[in-house]
Amino acid sequence: MIDKVVIANRGEIALRILRACKEMHIKTVAVHSEVDSNLLHVRLADESICIGPNPAAGSYLNIPAILSAAEISDASAIHPGYGFLSENADFAEKVEQSGFIFIGPHPKTISLMGDKVTAIKYAKKIGIPCVPGSGGTIGEDNTESLRIAREIGYPVIIKASGGGGGRGMRVVHSESHFLNALTLTRGEAKAAFNNDNVYIEKYLQHPRHIEIQVLGDGQGNAIFLGERDCSTQRRNQKIIEEAPAPGITQKQREEIGEICVAACRDMKYRGAGTMEFLYENGNFFFIEMNTRIQVEHPVTEFITGIDLVRQQMLIASGEKLSLTQADITIHGHAIECRINAEDPRNFMPSPGQITYFHPPGGPGIRLDSHIYTHYTVPPYYDSLIGKVIAYGDTREIALSRMRQALEETVIEGIRTNIPLHLDILNSETFQHGQFTIHYLEEWLNR
Ligand code: ADP
Repeated sequence: MIDKVVIANRGEIALRILRACKEMHIKTVAVHSEVDSNLLHVRLADESICIGPNPAAGSYLNIPAILSAAEISDASAIHPGYGFLSENADFAEKVEQSGFIFIGPHPKTISLMGDKVTAIKYAKKIGIPCVPGSGGTIGEDNTESLRIAREIGYPVIIKASGGGGGRGMRVVHSESHFLNALTLTRGEAKAAFNNDNVYIEKYLQHPRHIEIQVLGDGQGNAIFLGERDCSTQRRNQKIIEEAPAPGITQKQREEIGEICVAACRDMKYRGAGTMEFLYENGNFFFIEMNTRIQVEHPVTEFITGIDLVRQQMLIASGEKLSLTQADITIHGHAIECRINAEDPRNFMPSPGQITYFHPPGGPGIRLDSHIYTHYTVPPYYDSLIGKVIAYGDTREIALSRMRQALEETVIEGIRTNIPLHLDILNSETFQHGQFTIHYLEEWLNR
């Protein structure tokens, strides 16, 4: 069993990992940037090491510094959380070469799934339904690219092969805009991901974003833990997630879940992962796989009763999956609201000191957050300061508890998107679960 873990992340997910470690009697090492020395998990960890300056490039993305911290502290494993180095195959490989356990998939799996084009090619090969598209990187020949786009049919979406975090994609509605959009997307992809490979997909007009949670033990055993609906997005970034997805039947769940499990068995998937799909007119279309724990994992934990971070630790320790598909049953409904330090109207980040914090509570409420009164939200990282998750026997109860929880929450000194969440929860479309990925932006425009 792993006995000491370096938590190579910050904020709420670092605290989530620390809590799982404490529960499992695993020692923890918090590695952090200069400004993060007063993060909650840094204070609670058995040991803490400052690994560099505030910009992530010098700290949370600094591979040699993280490996040195693991060596100095004599840790046995490294948990990458989400974001930062969590889907960096080179990091995973260096972790293993240095003799530590990487709490995540094999570096080869990360490479395969980390590039969206190789992931789609693999998915197609083993029979996962994909969005109609170029199926591969498009070359330098503009005439050929135009022909491919015409054949797919407008509107199309040009996507960066190495993209992530909702960046590196552009929708094109007509042929006259295609070549210009292609040049722009390539340029952005090169700048952001150092990889100008792009591919084309049909741009679906009314899809929902539905994803399947999987667990594999790296020895060929795998299960799925139901689905999550993450359609409520702004600029392709999720802000509310829920499980189960409204309107999905047990039969549909099992069909798509079994397809995902077959893929995980085939690639001997190790750890927690998520296969993301667009869902339109009763059909699922694969878009990508995330080879890590997701921000929205708590909604799945609520409806299945399975602790996903604990499972990550057990799998990384080399244990066989102790759960079988028959152990996974879905009860009730869970919703998560991502709380961001930002202006709820213009979405400008709102870092600064929290002068007063009062957390929500009560039946079915879970708060995953690192903030406290007098904590200062630094301007260097993303604006997520916590997640409120509400559970109930029915979606209606979960929604009602969420509304109550958000109304109880007091965060003073900075602005947050709580007022926006309350408006969304009060909208009829949301209450009826009749949204698509475009719902929030259309609603904001109105
Ligand atoms: P990222 O890795 O940046 O999160 P994804 O490929 O997962 O990118 O896509 C993010 C979001 O972009 C999806 O949830 C969806 O809202 C939108 N999107 C992606 N591909 C398409 C498509 N073919 N048609 C319509 N919307 C899409």
